[in-house]
Amino acid sequence: MTIFDLQKRVAFVTGGNGGIGLGMAKGLAAAGASVVIAGRNETKGQAALSELRLIGAEAEFVDLDVLDEASCRQAVQHTVERFGRLDILVNNAGTTVRKQPEDLTAQDWRLVMDTNLTSAFLCSQAAYPHMVRNCGGKIINIGSMMSVFASSYATPYAASKGGIVQLARSMAVAWAKDNIQVNTILPGWIDTELTRKAREQVQGLNEKVLARTPAQRWGVPEDFAGIAVFLAAPASNFITGAAIPVDGGYSVQI
Ligand code: NDP
Repeated sequence: MTIFDLQKRVAFVTGGNGGIGLGMAKGLAAAGASVVIAGRNETKGQAALSELRLIGAEAEFVDLDVLDEASCRQAVQHTVERFGRLDILVNNAGTTVRKQPEDLTAQDWRLVMDTNLTSAFLCSQAAYPHMVRNCGGKIINIGSMMSVFASSYATPYAASKGGIVQLARSMAVAWAKDNIQVNTILPGWIDTELTRKAREQVQGLNEKVLARTPAQRWGVPEDFAGIAVFLAAPASNFITGAAIPVDGGYSVQI
């Protein structure tokens, strides 16, 4: 179906070397896109590349530290040099520091805000002129249930994930004139490296998640393939500034 066709499109996925980012990268690749996955961990990157190439995708790993502005700009530039264009940016890289607010250091705060929020701004700004040259583009930010809800151990995480929704909305308004759609995905609780640590650190988390999620399971990275394709494809051309839960119903149940 042409409305979901990503052939000849080029995608750049931060943190695409594992977890939800790789789940999305696989979806984009299956729909025909060439995909650049970007992150710090080269070993994970090579393993992810093998998975993407099995799908038949043109794929590449590029070294990226989203805490470094120059690295963000270089990784985007590398993508354009390698594949000739950039159509789809997925701002997925993320981290957290689980402490009560009174115990957080300024360094903890900056690490989480810079990784989760500032990086999305920097990569979007770097991608913008390339999308303008293509007469359009798609930016997909990754938020969280913490974009909406709160938790005592997730102060900077919740602030960054609330912020990324407003960042998307602001860019959606600013860049609608350039035919660039900017949306945010709000994942529920997904089984990845990030939440495996949370299960160890937060007592009773597994039970709480299962009790509140109507689908009665944790999500898996593959649950993000479909939404990534939808938000990257012509099918979503009139959707911009939206924040879409992918959460097995978590956010609709009290
Ligand atoms: P993972 O830990 O598997 O993925 C996080 C990714 O971010 C890794 O690929 C990592 O790459 C990358 N990353 C972190 N810091 C940097 C950095 N400084 N520079 C470049 N890349 C970096 O966890 P998830 O897949 O769960 O997380 C992906 C996104 O989804 C995050 O934004 C997270 O907040 C969000 N999310 C996850 C939820 C869940 O339940 N799992 C729920 C809601 C949101 P590397 O290994 O190379 O450092």
